[in-house]
Amino acid sequence: MGRKILIFLGNPGAGKGTQSRAIMRQLGIPQISTGDMLRDAVARGTSYGKEAKEKMDAGDLVSDEIVNGIVAERILQEDCAKGFILDGYPRNVHQAETFNKLLNSDDQLFVIEISAAAANLVDRLVGRLMCSGCGDIYNIYSRIPQKEKLCDRCGRQLVHRSDDREDLIQERFKTYDGETFPLVTFYQGQGVYHQVNGMRPIGDVTKEILAIVDGVGVRG
Ligand code: AMP
Repeated sequence: MGRKILIFLGNPGAGKGTQSRAIMRQLGIPQISTGDMLRDAVARGTSYGKEAKEKMDAGDLVSDEIVNGIVAERILQEDCAKGFILDGYPRNVHQAETFNKLLNSDDQLFVIEISAAAANLVDRLVGRLMCSGCGDIYNIYSRIPQKEKLCDRCGRQLVHRSDDREDLIQERFKTYDGETFPLVTFYQGQGVYHQVNGMRPIGDVTKEILAIVDGVGVRG
C-alpha cells in the first residue's frame, strides 16, 4: 500500500499544528512542520537560517528553494515510509507543483483545509504558547497548561513565538490569502481537497479529520 500523506491548509492559528500533532499520535505517522524546522535552523544559525529569519520576521514566505529542499530531504527518512503529515507546506502553487513530483502513483493524498476566518484567530495567536521541547501547543485563554508556562506532556518551558505579534499576524494573514489560499483551487482540481470547520472544539475537528482519512491500517 502507498503512503498516506496529509497536507493541512488554513490561516495561521486555524489549528494546523494542533490537529497535525493529534493526527500524528492517532495514525503513527510523523508530523513535518516546515515552520518548526525553519525556527530550528534559525536557532542553530545554519547557512539558510539567516535568510529564513528575515522573511519570518516580516511575515513573508521563505524561499521555495529552501523549503522544497528541506521537505524533499526529510520525507526520505525511514519514519516517513508509511506516510507523513505536512503542516505548513506547500505554501504556494510552485511548492505544490514541486511536491507533486515527489509523489508515487500509489500514494494516498488528503488535502485538508481547516477553515477559520482571520478575524476569529487573532486572540488565539496572541495567546498561543508552544513547548520548547516537544512542540505541543497551548493557549493562555483556551488551552491552559496545568503548571504555568510548563508543558503538560514533557514538562519543558512554554514559549511565545516571536511572530505571534499583532502587526505580524496581519501580514501573515495577507500572505496566506495571496499565496496559499489559491492551493484550494489547485487541489480541488486534483480531487483530493477536503474542508473541516476549524472553529469547532479541537477533539471534534480531530474526529472529522480521522473520518476523512480513515486511519485503519497505517500503524504497524
Ligand atoms: P508556521 O510555523 O507554519 O506558521 O511558519 C512560520 C513562518 O515560517 C512563516 O510565516 C514563513 O515565514 C515560514 N514558513 C513556514 N513554512 C513555509 C513554507 N512552506 N514556505 C515558505 N515559508 C514558510
